[in-house]
Amino acid sequence: MAGTAPEAEEVVICGSGPAGLTAALYAARANMRPIVYEGMEPGGQLTTTTDVENFPGFPEGIMGPELMEKMKAQVQRFGARVEMDEVEKVDCSEWPYRYTTSMGVEGRAKTLIVATGASAKYLGLDNELRLRGYGVSACATCDGFFFRDQDVVVIGGGDSAAEEATFLTRFASKVHLLVRRDQMRASKIMAKRVFDNDKIEIHWNTGMTDVLGEKEVEGVATVDHLTQEPGRLDVTGVFLAIGHTPNSKPFVDWLDHDEAGYLKTAPDSTATNIPGLFACGDMQDKIYRQAVTAAGSGCMAALEAERWLESREDEA
Ligand code: NAP
Repeated sequence: MAGTAPEAEEVVICGSGPAGLTAALYAARANMRPIVYEGMEPGGQLTTTTDVENFPGFPEGIMGPELMEKMKAQVQRFGARVEMDEVEKVDCSEWPYRYTTSMGVEGRAKTLIVATGASAKYLGLDNELRLRGYGVSACATCDGFFFRDQDVVVIGGGDSAAEEATFLTRFASKVHLLVRRDQMRASKIMAKRVFDNDKIEIHWNTGMTDVLGEKEVEGVATVDHLTQEPGRLDVTGVFLAIGHTPNSKPFVDWLDHDEAGYLKTAPDSTATNIPGLFACGDMQDKIYRQAVTAAGSGCMAALEAERWLESREDEA
């Protein structure tokens, strides 16, 4: 009806990775009619990975994108509305809270679950950013295919770097792995896969100082951190795997967060400092950061949102 303010949603979920979709599953089954704004990367980080072997219930493993498709289908089966849009701004000055999406939707939410995850970090070199999409990538699963029979470099020493380097050997003729220290942060099993792979050459104590090439990547400049000796690798692909930054920007004006932007929640809870606002998944967890822990915290957020709303309505 013209002139009538839209009815407030019971629960608005920002993000559609394992945390957001699990929150949506529980909220939908509790008849809260959740609306999920998928965000910039629908399905979250698992859509940029290949085999997922550590999500329970799939003895043969499952491909990341397929797992996320299944989670989405499951929440839709229970009536969750999943929108290809992103919450850009929230205003918690009065309840129900106001939010605006990047497609211009203005709505109100009685409870809000923030599950916007984290995004890949870049080193911030001018040429690295300029050549993003022209040989520089942070997703081997998405772009590895383009580097068949070519030499590539991966930057990082964690599980992501180990996974990306190993995956890239399916296509590339050679994978250089630049590790800034003299050891890898990756788990033993993932590191062993790297050490055992003849196509991967590890450059210890080495950093990337520049990406070379006019229109596309032709090589990288490196430095040995121990001797300061510069070097060069002739590669056509550069894959960053140096960790992630939490996607908490729309919320940090309202919600307590640490200096990196990870939202703070109460102990053993997903409750933030704003009543009715809950945070779950990688955007709130910098320790475990697993699909299954994200899903678990999404479940907690939905249960807490439901209980919070019930207690508020009981008081009214
Ligand atoms: P991470 O564990 O934080 O590792 C980041 C790596 O990048 C570290 O080796 C770090 O070096 C290096 N690094 C950071 N900044 C750098 C810079 N400016 N220049 C050069 N190197 C830099 O991140 P991740 O590998 O993305 O993993 C994140 C989480 O996801 C972890 O808990 C991991 O276990 C999990 N994960 C699991 C799987 C799996 O099980 N299949 C796959 C991927 C990720 P330092 O060690 O020196 O700090």
